Amino acid sequence: MTLENDKDLRELIRKTALLNALQHGGKAQAGALIGRIISERQELKTKAKDLSGLIGKVINEINSLSSEEQKRIVEENWPETLKKEKPAEEGKGLPPLPNASKYQHIVTRFSPNPDCVLHLGSARAIILSHEYARMYKGKFILRFEDTDSKVKRPVLEFYDRIRDDLAWLGCKADEEYIQSDRLQIYYEYAERLLREGNAYVCTCAPDQFREKSLAKKPCNCRDLPPAEHLERWRRMLDGGYGEGEAVVRVKTDMEHPNPAVRDWPALRIIDPKYPHPRVGSKYRVWPLYNFSTGLDDHLMDITHIIRGKEHLTNKVRQEYMYKHLGWKYPEAIHYGRLKITGAFLSKSKIVQGVREGLYTGWDDPRLATFAALRRRGITPGAIGKMIIDVGSKTADVTLSWENLYAYNRKILDPISDRYFFVSEPVELNVRHIPKVFKAKLPLHPEKPERGFREYTVTPTIDGAVFWIAKKDADAAEVGKVIRLMELFNVKIESVNADLVKASFASEAYEDVRKAKARLIHWIPKGEEYPCSVVMPDNSKVEGVAESACKKLKPDAVIQFERFVFVRVDKNDAKLTAYYAHK
Ligand SMILES: [Zn+2]
Repeated sequence: MTLENDKDLRELIRKTALLNALQHGGKAQAGALIGRIISERQELKTKAKDLSGLIGKVINEINSLSSEEQKRIVEENWPETLKKEKPAEEGKGLPPLPNASKYQHIVTRFSPNPDCVLHLGSARAIILSHEYARMYKGKFILRFEDTDSKVKRPVLEFYDRIRDDLAWLGCKADEEYIQSDRLQIYYEYAERLLREGNAYVCTCAPDQFREKSLAKKPCNCRDLPPAEHLERWRRMLDGGYGEGEAVVRVKTDMEHPNPAVRDWPALRIIDPKYPHPRVGSKYRVWPLYNFSTGLDDHLMDITHIIRGKEHLTNKVRQEYMYKHLGWKYPEAIHYGRLKITGAFLSKSKIVQGVREGLYTGWDDPRLATFAALRRRGITPGAIGKMIIDVGSKTADVTLSWENLYAYNRKILDPISDRYFFVSEPVELNVRHIPKVFKAKLPLHPEKPERGFREYTVTPTIDGAVFWIAKKDADAAEVGKVIRLMELFNVKIESVNADLVKASFASEAYEDVRKAKARLIHWIPKGEEYPCSVVMPDNSKVEGVAESACKKLKPDAVIQFERFVFVRVDKNDAKLTAYYAHK
């Protein structure tokens, strides 16, 4: 039987080619198929030539279909082969890493440029990388990628701030590297690539290079002998070229369909008038992103790179370099974009805004920096849980602040003591109070063991005076009964802008429960303590808190009843609290 007539074989090729096409943007790759088919049909080893002819035919047929069509055929015939991306289920934890068993030690990394503090946008890379390292008892590396002293200039204070942010998130690194300490290593590999003819020093004007590259043509430098390139390389290091006059390029396939992949730039000159904040003007030649990152991932034994899918092209670029060096590319997981509605400002906008005084600092509540979230009482546990529930799926995910607040509320609610805060206080005068009342207010409604705040209401001949919030005063209606929470019921007699008058109605809550009387919070006059709450838009709500708040320590997170959860920021003759969420 000829291969052509082997129906089963044809079907196997078709299936393998379709799956391969789906993985490669609609185009099946012949090279990969031959190996795969032979591994299933060992007897075809001796007929590789015929087999490759048949595969070629099938591929032509498959590659002429649209991706949708390919997917439909697979769905109809081999639905079990389509890996379904299930939505993250809360509390399920992370799925296993691909090929984890192939590695003795799992090593992941987070590699920020210290040109800004960290913000929520980095949470996914940090938490997934850290969590996976923990899951496999592996290693989590922090690598500062600080090799651009001109455009994405690193700033000394951010190295420490980033370390602090990671510690706060509970993602402290097991090992740390700083790329500006590693220039000699990068130079060594640059030389090796140049010597072996896998890289070259291009002195073309950028426009000239681009024009050739777009036409899939080598520039005039590419094919010069390695000796010439090593000589040019010396000149780059010695100052014989100025900034922009020479760049080391890694050789790729000039026919690669994506022009941005073709002979990508690996190292360039930065004028020493832009000194590096750590190493000053010691170096003129600096690696570009793909070069230093690509080398370091291998040299640091990273087994799994976990990063956004915007890096997919970088993988393609770096794989050429890995091939030149005889290295195997790490496993790479490219997750989709995580958008948090209204949360993101670019790093440069944050830096500029803080420098210009538009923001009060890195922890301005209008920012989504970790410093700001920390100040507002958002817990690292909530951020971690949200990120792990979202997982590493490739689909884009949009969350809102409310999603994050919901995670945080679950953490704060059981542990936060309750207090009263009266915003824009208005006096409430209650007359005809029959006796002395002792109010015993639980610090937590479900946890009496946490204790109580106690206030004694001793009426005089003019009654007793309380502070109530302006919005409660505004809502009061003459003749209606309202309840002062955990105290007694009063009947409203008159309402003025700065004074509400009422008389004692009764004590028991049962008396007003059926009438659905409003429950309002209150503070006895004399027990008030000045307090301001900083809101997410950096405006302030002024008011008074109850005197029991005097003992609160900075960093305590409490709930102001009927208002919001807040974090105590300062408590020094006045309480300043930051709004967390409702
Ligand atoms: Zn050139």
